Amino acid sequence: MTKNGTTRSQTSTNELLQVVNPATGEPITTLPAASADDVAKAAERARRVHEAGVWSRLAPRERGAVLLRLTDLMERDAEVLARLDSEDAGKPITECRTGDVPGAIESIRWFAEAADKVFGRLAPGGPDGLGLVSREPVGVVAAILPWNYPLAMTAWKVGPALVAGNCLLVKPAEATPRSALHLAALAAEAGLPDGVLTVLPGHGREAGAALARDPLVGALSFTGSTATGRRILKDAAESNFKRVSLEMGGKSPQVLMADALSYGDELVDNMIEAAFLTMGQNCTAGSRVLVHRSIAEEVLERFTAAAKRLVIGDPGDPRTQMGPLIDRTAFDRVASAVEAARSGGARIHTGGLPHGLPPHGAYYPPTVITGAPDGSDVLTKELFGPVVTVQTFTSEDEAVRGANASEYGLAASVWTRDLDTALRLARGIEAGVVSVNAYSEGDITTPFGGWKQSGFGGAEKSTNAFDQWTREKTIWIRTR
Ligand code: NAD
Repeated sequence: MTKNGTTRSQTSTNELLQVVNPATGEPITTLPAASADDVAKAAERARRVHEAGVWSRLAPRERGAVLLRLTDLMERDAEVLARLDSEDAGKPITECRTGDVPGAIESIRWFAEAADKVFGRLAPGGPDGLGLVSREPVGVVAAILPWNYPLAMTAWKVGPALVAGNCLLVKPAEATPRSALHLAALAAEAGLPDGVLTVLPGHGREAGAALARDPLVGALSFTGSTATGRRILKDAAESNFKRVSLEMGGKSPQVLMADALSYGDELVDNMIEAAFLTMGQNCTAGSRVLVHRSIAEEVLERFTAAAKRLVIGDPGDPRTQMGPLIDRTAFDRVASAVEAARSGGARIHTGGLPHGLPPHGAYYPPTVITGAPDGSDVLTKELFGPVVTVQTFTSEDEAVRGANASEYGLAASVWTRDLDTALRLARGIEAGVVSVNAYSEGDITTPFGGWKQSGFGGAEKSTNAFDQWTREKTIWIRTR
């Protein structure tokens, strides 16, 4: 392993990781994939670095200063980072420039600034003792990441985990390892000691599973699919009971009450963003529209017209609003679910694709479905593609029941001018984040995380994030 553990010249199994451009199907680069042995060695090294105290025993303010320098370097390399994610994930470059990269910088900066502002507690005990409750780093910790927001998800973990004084092992998704590797190089340039942040590009079944089972890893934060989250929890239980935090899939509703159209284009623009941002490959994608019957026809007309106007094309072109899906497997999964709905009697409203797209790109058009059969995959499964169902309701109770008719509970949005209705809906919907009159996940100060099979809820962003990456210790002092 070379400086800072960011690249490797050789791995014990010589497995390779091919990074492919989803827009063209062309290979971008091939990297050595971390083996289980590489992961074990990285964890041992991180443990030694942790014990040496070069990071864990620095004053929090000094750790924050290193991370603030990192954010300055991220600003300097913002265009490089945007291009890496756009090429690897097929994300429109404008989305990366205006969303992912500034969001990642803001997130690390916020945690860096909070470094010396998170306090321990003093227990309200009696006169015979003093209970100090301090927060301490866990030691060696790990993050396993998805491919849809490669840099942004890395940043959500790196900021609080490092500020808290841990040594962090990061496994990016197979398809999108390059922005995390670049971030680690920038961290080294910012003065982060060797071995504090190690990026291990590798396969989930090998490197990911090795992290989940590693006895030295004390906490693991996972963002990805519910199926993988289940395996990780099992691996953690069967190894060392490492603390696991899970941020997983969703099937989020957008609930439009009878007065929602009074928001006009703002409503339609938000619905489009909720449904089709990152080609619908977004954990909080508003993939189920529930609309009051009285406005359903007009909403459907305006929503499908706006969907058909989306500019589909080369992710590297700043005008592009929708690029390809991550790969052909994702394309096939989405296409077959839509086809099953169609043959079950659903109506598909779709704009088709423009001519001249690369033949091997995984492009799928924005698709709106009405009349989907009960229990069909388009209504119940996280398709992770640009596919939205539209269903109607006539009462508030029916809206809440519809919103909650999912095994997931990540996010929801509700649209109404009536504050009482908005609050009743927000309280009734089982989801970690409910946005009112917006499609939003809140900002960096608000907790983020799903309920039900979307996760453990509220563990990311905000000062909550420190709970994932620290453990409390009680120091009891006898007073006489
Ligand atoms: P995925 O579960 O296939 O992979 C996620 C990560 O887990 C990858 O790094 C993968 O290599 C690794 N992995 C795979 N098998 C593993 C195993 N056995 N042990 C350990 N690690 C393993 O998910 P994905 O396709 O990369 O991402 C899409 C999913 O992520 C969607 O379900 C989406 O909703 C979810 N997601 C959730 C959030 C959130 O905050 N809730 C954010 C983004 C994405």
